[in-house]
Amino acid sequence: AAKRQLSGALRYDPALDLASAQTLSLLTELRRAVEHNELRLYLQPKLALHGQPGLAAEALVRWQHPQRGLVAPMHFIPFAEQTGFVRQLTLWIFEEVARLLAAQEARHLPLRVSVNLSTRDLLDPELSTRLAAILARHGVQASAFCLEITESAIMDDPQRAEAMLNRLSQQGFKLSIDDFGTGYSSLAYLRRLPVDELKIDKSFVMGMQAGEDDAMIVRSTIELAHNLGLTVVAEGVETAAILERLRTLACDEAQGYHIARPLPVDDFLAWQARQG
Ligand code: C2E
Ligand code: CA
Ligand code: CA
Ligand code: CA
Repeated sequence: AAKRQLSGALRYDPALDLASAQTLSLLTELRRAVEHNELRLYLQPKLALHGQPGLAAEALVRWQHPQRGLVAPMHFIPFAEQTGFVRQLTLWIFEEVARLLAAQEARHLPLRVSVNLSTRDLLDPELSTRLAAILARHGVQASAFCLEITESAIMDDPQRAEAMLNRLSQQGFKLSIDDFGTGYSSLAYLRRLPVDELKIDKSFVMGMQAGEDDAMIVRSTIELAHNLGLTVVAEGVETAAILERLRTLACDEAQGYHIARPLPVDDFLAWQARQG
């Protein structure tokens, strides 16, 4: 109960004025978190359901707070987005992943990693240059990365988002639409974007168990993605039954607690080694 209360105290309240003392102190804490190496890279495996089982994962951040313990992203990502701090966080994650990819390539264990981008990142004219500098520093290829962007981040400023996505795609990054089905983007619009992957939101995947509506949405999304020539990933796979159903529906990749939770890097590498 005590732990709950403490993380509750961190929860960002959008009703708070950005200049309030509480907000400033959270911003100070986040800056310190980066300086004092309190952020942690977690990786959640993405399982290929057909054909070549290439090794892939999604990068998810955690905050190892000296007093509060391991803090989940929902407690600080919205705040980081609001203040623009998320751009620094994205670069930190990206660099950690680049370092890992370089190490894995040296061991001949190539890995593909998905990194989440926020609206702020997408609208930052410096993003592509900064990412290129990190790639060069670690000697890794853009094609080892998939950048996940939500529909709502794109629809915030569709023209600027489209220009940035074209640039990132030309740089060699794979692009994925995250939380697909929860936003308000039109398909006609999405079709114009240089996207490689659709990621079906976990609410539909988790709902497959109970409701035929969700199962129908998942099935249609898989067909839609394939008709558009895109790879499709289901997130939030919590049961063996749903995993089997997705396989039958020809879904390409799956991610979820049934396969593995997001893991610290060392645990992820051990998990991967056990898969043989
Ligand atoms: P997301 O990008 O949609 O990430 C998927 C979330 O679903 C993760 O939560 C993951 O732990 C969780 N998840 C995975 N499998 C299952 C499952 O089977 N069942 C259920 N119920 N949940 C599952 P997490 O790590 O707490 O992250 C929450 C959100 O925070 C992410 O949603 C993403 O929007 C944001 N986030 C996390 N890390 C980063 C980051 O490095 N940068 C940015 N910009 N956002 C991040
Ligand atoms: Ca994601
Ligand atoms: Ca998602
Ligand atoms: Ca989400």
